Amino acid sequence: MVSEKMKPFMANNSAIRAMFEEGKRMAAIYGSENVYDFSLGNPNVPVPEVNDALLHVINEGEFNVLHGYMSNAGYEDVRQTIAESLNKKFGTSFSYKNLIMTVGAASGLNVILKSILNPGDEVIAFAPYFVEYNGYVRNYDGNIVVVSPDTETFMPKLSEFEEKITPKTKAVIINSPNNPTGVVYSEETLMELAAIMKKKEEEYGTSIVLLSDEPYRELAYGGVEVPYVTKYYHNTVVCYSYSKSLSVPGERIGYLVIPDEVDDSELLISAATIANRVLGCVNAPSLMQKAIKYCIDHDITVDLEAYENNRNLLYNALTEYGFSCAKPDGAFYLFVKSPVADEKEFCEVAKKHHVLFVPGSSFACPGYVRIAYCVSYAQIERSLPAFKEIAKEYGLTD
Ligand code: PLP
Repeated sequence: MVSEKMKPFMANNSAIRAMFEEGKRMAAIYGSENVYDFSLGNPNVPVPEVNDALLHVINEGEFNVLHGYMSNAGYEDVRQTIAESLNKKFGTSFSYKNLIMTVGAASGLNVILKSILNPGDEVIAFAPYFVEYNGYVRNYDGNIVVVSPDTETFMPKLSEFEEKITPKTKAVIINSPNNPTGVVYSEETLMELAAIMKKKEEEYGTSIVLLSDEPYRELAYGGVEVPYVTKYYHNTVVCYSYSKSLSVPGERIGYLVIPDEVDDSELLISAATIANRVLGCVNAPSLMQKAIKYCIDHDITVDLEAYENNRNLLYNALTEYGFSCAKPDGAFYLFVKSPVADEKEFCEVAKKHHVLFVPGSSFACPGYVRIAYCVSYAQIERSLPAFKEIAKEYGLTD
């Protein structure tokens, strides 16, 4: 019954999800306060104003407009509000025509990949990366090409990148602030990356799309700037999501930006609008679209302080216990070097201490683990003795 195309997806079913399920199982046995589950990137900081936005929209909206079909690209007034807020923040010049509302970043990525990939086309990703990209690319018979990690900085390895671009390269995916490392790409890095891509486009006479996957854009700490990628490279498409910035991943809302500077932009916008429909998304959820407009009009976004405090608490404790980890500037993850070569073994040892996190091989970067600190401060405090015991077990601390 199950298709041949589906089978590899099932075989690779996410280790992150498996760990999350394990966390639930352990919580039922030991009590949730005694299990320290750092496996899933599920935002834990409430944004109660989103509920105000939804109530406002429900109370003010006309039933059949609010709950009806609409243009596949989404409500024009919502897209125009987003375009203007981007223009104000980043000095861009988008209009509603450049935006397509999507069912989160996951659907945005699928919509754009469906719109551009022919079978056998290549899509480059920089390890470590969000492995769902593999499935998204395979959906349209593309091949993912991985640039190996620079484990010193976790910035893209640009020399290897240049070597891996071929006439078949159709897209390059970047993600900053990054899942799983928390690294934020600097302006200099983006400029170098853009220069390489332009050079290769000219050499091969092709168009190469830079897909900027940005669910963590607002999650940057200590005043670190997250440069707006469309400024550096003409063929940039932005995949944004409100999952993390409004703590609403279950609501499935985001958008694509396809700027006028993109080659054949009108054609691509039209293809993506149709891809949204033929993929079965049809359009992004109407209620959430209207709620997003309200949130932008009222400057509503997540309070970053809680995540920053979590980062500081966990980073300071883990490094004090002898673990090795770069201090992340954004997102809500620590990417920690495993004290043993096989990081899956490290995960198993941690599990014995009721601490759950995800092996780096799930992000094409073995030898590391991802610790998602989007949990309560109190839970991190409670987990520290367990982390210390794990460190002792590996002889990292006394
Ligand atoms: N891209 C990255 C890097 C992510 O970490 C995630 C979710 O965690 C997504 C895309 C998908 O986000 P969404 O919930 O908006 O579909």
